[in-house]
Amino acid sequence: MNLTHIEHIGIAVKSIEESLPYYENILGLKCYAIEEVKDQKVKTAFFKVGQTKLELLESTDPEGPIGKFIEKRGEGIHHIAFAVDDVNKALNKAASKGIRLIDEKPRKGAEGLNIGFLHPKFTQGVLTEFCGKE
Ligand code: ZN
Repeated sequence: MNLTHIEHIGIAVKSIEESLPYYENILGLKCYAIEEVKDQKVKTAFFKVGQTKLELLESTDPEGPIGKFIEKRGEGIHHIAFAVDDVNKALNKAASKGIRLIDEKPRKGAEGLNIGFLHPKFTQGVLTEFCGKE
């Protein structure tokens, strides 16, 4: 496993539009992309802090993963994504050490990157994502 840095932190919000003033006017960050990821039923907004991004996640469907998360736990940190060279390899390695995977194989996430999630029951409650170009 070769984690190079924290690629992004995913933050569940009820509304990207209502969240933007905090990130832009208070923290002074600039939203550089808003993108819908249809199969995840979310709209995403991205900010950069150094080489790490913040990814705001707004649900487009109450039955989607972010809609359910907010209903259960409210707004807040949803997941941490680590940058890896090869998402498939990283997932296989975690699985070989007994970690249950949400994604057996990498799939396409925002910004065209390959992503794959580990099950939070096996990661002390932190939903963990691997993220990479390969
Ligand atoms: Zn993510």
